[in-house]
Amino acid sequence: MKRSTLHNSGSNSASSAGLKKLVDGVHKFQLEHFEENKLLFERLSHGQKPQVLMITCADSRIDPNLITASQPGDLFIMRNVANLVPKFHLNAETEAGAVIEYAVSVLGVAEIIVMGHSDCGGMKAVLHPEKLTSLPAVSSWLNHATAGTLATEATTANCSCCDESQQLLETTNNNIVLQLANLATHPSVAAAMAQGKLHIHGWNYQIENGSISYFDQDRKHWCQL
Ligand SMILES: [Zn+2]
Repeated sequence: MKRSTLHNSGSNSASSAGLKKLVDGVHKFQLEHFEENKLLFERLSHGQKPQVLMITCADSRIDPNLITASQPGDLFIMRNVANLVPKFHLNAETEAGAVIEYAVSVLGVAEIIVMGHSDCGGMKAVLHPEKLTSLPAVSSWLNHATAGTLATEATTANCSCCDESQQLLETTNNNIVLQLANLATHPSVAAAMAQGKLHIHGWNYQIENGSISYFDQDRKHWCQL
């Protein structure tokens, strides 16, 4: 396999160092991981049949395959700021709507997981919207999470003991529950769920210790996975 040489285009050194690390990583992947897993990649070259759609945050610290010890081909993944799922609106197609429809109606995934995480910048911004005045696109996007914040305020209104980290956890959890409700508004999801072919799940991943909690939808309670 021919190796490319990384040329310095004159951009700043931090950017070049970041790119060089990736190019070195590509070569390492080709020499090691790809060679060791040739049969897997040969099989995947003919098509995909993932069982799970994971909807998670764009945050660089979240690696869905790593934290679930899964392989290429196992997860269909949609990522955006704060793992949001806009409600379905007829004649208002969104990227999320297309990903969900394709995953459910074409790939036939049996599970959808909405996964939030600790220290989420999107959730912090929801709690402090005054910091978003110079970020109109982010501010507008986070409107899809507003109801989750209102739920947090309702939960903590009578609680004087809740500190910032507890409030962030509550908001993140409430946002995940809200996105599950939004997810169910999509016709492909609603139909597959009604037929018992699809289940949806809310997960919250903690970066600091690798743990994941899940939302028990029957008991309306968060538990450790
Ligand atoms: Zn995030």
